[in-house]
Amino acid sequence: NEFVKEEFSRGALRTKTVEDILTSLKDCFMLPSTAVLDFNTMSEIMQSGYTRVPVYEDERSNIVEILYVKDLALVDPADCTPMSTITKFYNHPLHFVFNDTKLDAMLEEFKKGKSHLAIVQKVNNEGEGDPFYEVLGLVTLEDVIEEIIKSE
Ligand code: ATP
Ligand code: ATP
Repeated sequence: NEFVKEEFSRGALRTKTVEDILTSLKDCFMLPSTAVLDFNTMSEIMQSGYTRVPVYEDERSNIVEILYVKDLALVDPADCTPMSTITKFYNHPLHFVFNDTKLDAMLEEFKKGKSHLAIVQKVNNEGEGDPFYEVLGLVTLEDVIEEIIKSE
């Protein structure tokens, strides 16, 4: 019945975390900040089908910028524009959240903010050394909505 269903979906949003639903870093389509927006790179971006592409420096865990596919509208592949020229020009804010963020809180953040994608990080204090922030992957509004629909 409706009441039980509603309580269940609210429950899932209250108890599940972004870590449960994220797209893990190894599966993320990303580009290095050193990339050049030539024909090959631009084709690769288009073929990925993603609207937002995280840009990393040195290693994939170090996401420093985000490229929106619509930023490419005025880019001519023949110019071989450096990626950083475009990301610095648009300078979209990066949004980080912790792995234990509950889905209801994440949904509220997505509703408030302009961006519908967040980078998920956790405090890693498992090793011998000092704790450090570890990037686990990304989560989008779509992932949260999918979770709501699943539980209905
Ligand atoms: P939009 O639907 O706004 O065009 P999109 O299709 O690029 O954007 P979403 O619909 O937000 O992306 O997300 C769909 C799925 O793809 C989600 O599971 C999300 O985690 C994942 N995703 C989004 N961007 C990337 C990316 N760059 N690499 C890998 N997975 C991604
Ligand atoms: P995205 O968020 O994937 O970049 P978008 O911002 O173009 O896409 P949506 O977020 O899907 O569009 O929709 C935002 C609002 O703008 C909705 O109310 C939608 O109906 C409206 N909208 C979308 N496209 C147009 C358009 N071409 N002209 C006028 N309104 C539009």
